[in-house]
Amino acid sequence: MGVRENLEEVLGRIKAAEHEAERTDVTLVAVSKTHDADAIRLAIEAGHRVFGENRVQEAQKKWPALKAETPDIELHLIGPLQSNKAEDAVKLFDVIESVDREKIARALAKEIAKQGRAPRLYVQVNTGNEPQKAGIDPRETEAFLALCRDELGLTIEGLMCIPPAGENPGPHFALLHDLATENSVHKLSMGMSGDYEIAIAFGATSVRVGSAIFGERDYSN
Ligand SMILES: *Cc1c(COP(=O)(O)O)cnc(C)c1O
Repeated sequence: MGVRENLEEVLGRIKAAEHEAERTDVTLVAVSKTHDADAIRLAIEAGHRVFGENRVQEAQKKWPALKAETPDIELHLIGPLQSNKAEDAVKLFDVIESVDREKIARALAKEIAKQGRAPRLYVQVNTGNEPQKAGIDPRETEAFLALCRDELGLTIEGLMCIPPAGENPGPHFALLHDLATENSVHKLSMGMSGDYEIAIAFGATSVRVGSAIFGERDYSN
């Protein structure tokens, strides 16, 4: 199947999951990492506008031109951010979902003040406490949000998580939902190709779906 058909299928499943959850507020972030501009244009031509990339450098190669062609694109950064890339990230992205440590929060606050451009921000939570994975320790959510909000003056719109591979994602989605409620954060980015319907049942307001739309990724080139 092609990108257009895949996109339609995913949107249909999201609608069904929303219906099941008695909600209508879920945004599909189409994750286009590793896929080229031609593949992305198929989704844009089908009417889709919200996309995700996990690397700043890769996004810089594809998105300035695509954004110039279609100005109402909303581009999300969903991968780890290095502080020396904060300037580029604030310039290009409309939403940064991977705020995951003090150094990054400070770098973003500085760039937002400097550029006068404020991407919407999410804090990534490492719900499985995996050593290799980005995200704050769930127990530090309150303190980290206080730093972002009170000290740095940042508005944190949502929380994001990537549950451990091979684990039942439900408890991780439930934890993220509870952390958001406890801390008055209103958006939840959770769920990928394998589990986005489950994530919606647990309260996701956006799901990040890549391979179910664009096909398998080829990292060999
Ligand atoms: C690649 C990626 C996705 C999409 O994964 P699929 O399984 O292809 O849907 C979602 N979130 C993040 C953070 C990613 O890096």
